[in-house]
Amino acid sequence: MANAEDETETVCRVCGFEGEVFWEGGWPNEAAICPCCDNEPDVGDASVMGLRNYRGYWVGQGAPWSSPSAEREHKRQGWDLMRQIQNIPPQWR
Ligand SMILES: [Zn+2]
Repeated sequence: MANAEDETETVCRVCGFEGEVFWEGGWPNEAAICPCCDNEPDVGDASVMGLRNYRGYWVGQGAPWSSPSAEREHKRQGWDLMRQIQNIPPQWR
């Protein structure tokens, strides 16, 4: 059975956006940046308190997308913040 740390994470721990490799083998993918909440995975994201702070700040700003082209594409498909947030793995909520 695979160790949790060996898993590839394609869901942003902050906002639940899915579609990039954010973590791999227990390490942040430094080349990734979330097109939604603008979070760059780093070892600081191993703290759920830090994630909650960043998420609270981001939502408090109105949940702005960092990539206008990704925003257009997703909003055209009926993007919904509350639905996306449900993608966040339970341990990072
Ligand atoms: Zn994100």
